[in-house]
Amino acid sequence: MAGDDAVRALRRDGRIVIVGASLAGLRAAEQLRDEGFTGSLTVIGDEPYEPYDRPPLSKQVLLGRVRPEDTGLPRRRPVDAHWRLGVAATGLDLDGKRVLLADGDAVEFDRLLIATGVRSRPWPHETEAALDGVHVLRTRDDAARLTRRLAGRPRRVLVIGAGFTGSEIASACRERGVAVTVAERGAAPLVGALGGVVGAVAADLQRDHGVDLRCGIMVTALEGDPAGRLRRAHLSDGTVLDVDVAVVALGAVRNTAWLAGSGLAAGPRGIACDAGCRAFDVHGIVTDDVFAAGDVARTPHPLFGYQFISLEHWGNAVEQAAIAAHNMVSPGPERRPHLWMPAFWSSQFGVNIKSVGVPSMADELLVTQGSLAERRFVAAYGYRGRVIAAVGFDHAKWMGFYAKLIEEAAPFPPEFPAVDRRPEGLRPVPAGFPDPALPTHGASVTLTGHSPSERRVVFTPSRA
Ligand SMILES: Cc1cc2nc3c(=O)[nH]c(=O)nc-3n(C[C@H](O)[C@H](O)[C@H](O)COP(=O)(O)OP(=O)(O)OC[C@H]3O[C@@H](n4cnc5c(N)ncnc54)[C@H](O)[C@@H]3O)c2cc1C
Repeated sequence: MAGDDAVRALRRDGRIVIVGASLAGLRAAEQLRDEGFTGSLTVIGDEPYEPYDRPPLSKQVLLGRVRPEDTGLPRRRPVDAHWRLGVAATGLDLDGKRVLLADGDAVEFDRLLIATGVRSRPWPHETEAALDGVHVLRTRDDAARLTRRLAGRPRRVLVIGAGFTGSEIASACRERGVAVTVAERGAAPLVGALGGVVGAVAADLQRDHGVDLRCGIMVTALEGDPAGRLRRAHLSDGTVLDVDVAVVALGAVRNTAWLAGSGLAAGPRGIACDAGCRAFDVHGIVTDDVFAAGDVARTPHPLFGYQFISLEHWGNAVEQAAIAAHNMVSPGPERRPHLWMPAFWSSQFGVNIKSVGVPSMADELLVTQGSLAERRFVAAYGYRGRVIAAVGFDHAKWMGFYAKLIEEAAPFPPEFPAVDRRPEGLRPVPAGFPDPALPTHGASVTLTGHSPSERRVVFTPSRA
């Protein structure tokens, strides 16, 4: 069959399988039907629920304003899919074009979309992680458990890790009047994502809201009582804290373990894809029937030196799923690249934080509007003389403007006249990102190309 005929046949009565029944999976299913795909569509998800929205879990749900079960994602159209929920995909047979399931079943496909996202990085000590009172926050069930715990008025909550999720949890605790300690290994909250200058503002914000913030500190052990309830936490400076709840917010792990041995280029950094969302195999050859989208995918981006970027961003999952779905049922010349401008938001301690671009790539920043001291500002981030990112605290409306500067590779420091430019907007300062070899917990954008901490393969000849 000629290429176009094959695509027409696929659109008419092909078999498409999506693994991951969440934001990217749902949006891809909707887009496939929008594109005129009339074949069979199967969506496999290991959670028992229909797709729901995660950002409210650390915000409105923890505050008790929205029930976890009321976070279902709105449907843009009927998708006429066969939903296989509550069953995990356990393997991929690339040659046989089959997804293997935990219940022993196998589902055949002509095209596969992998949208398995990430999960919370667990507390490394299993017995301590199992203590009653130790939580993570990724799923609707996690949020339900933690919300119940906060409603029970614990004496003190310990949040381990001050990335975006940890900081939002601390914020919710304070808003509920619950005492909270935040332990962060880095020099400030959000330091891995936004750097030390903005991190210092985040630290002041936390302390002003009554958070007992401890930076440069690691939690070395969690201790329980004989009944298995969390009682104490031991810190690297020798301090022992009495706590009855600990939330482990140490970032995320990509859900790729089920692809081990499949022949796909999938690992701890995600699934490597081309800009059209087609997954690479282990030889670096692009597949034409397996696609990936959302938090689990990593794709090269020309704006950021063609480095592979993985994003834990809501908007990226939506856009990438739409591109992947379009490309899955389109002939080669009609395929589109996914060149989304990274954009993220967070709300914590009454402040709306927005970022565009990749701040962690920057070496310098300049406060172009407002003032750090007032915690209302825009900081433009520079990398080798061009604008690479911007972060706004309560300045959301300007982010589109800065996104355009990043797209145009506008010179840094930017010289345009800005609304509310202050004296601190005259001279760039070092952005203050930690050494990339030191793990931090905050980055929701990861450049997965070369990093100084990366281990390289060394050829060691065998001895005869
Ligand atoms: C608490 C919280 C707050 C957030 N806040 C923000 C925010 O303020 N702003 C923002 O931009 N982003 C935020 N995010 C990130 C955003 O929610 C994610 O980027 C988005 O959910 C990614 O969608 P996804 O479909 O790629 O992956 P996910 O939503 O992670 O979904 C993947 C799905 O696949 C399932 N799965 C995994 N492995 C398998 C398997 N083997 N078989 C079957 N199913 C499997 C998972 O259980 C999950 O249901 C937040 C995330 C969390 C957890």
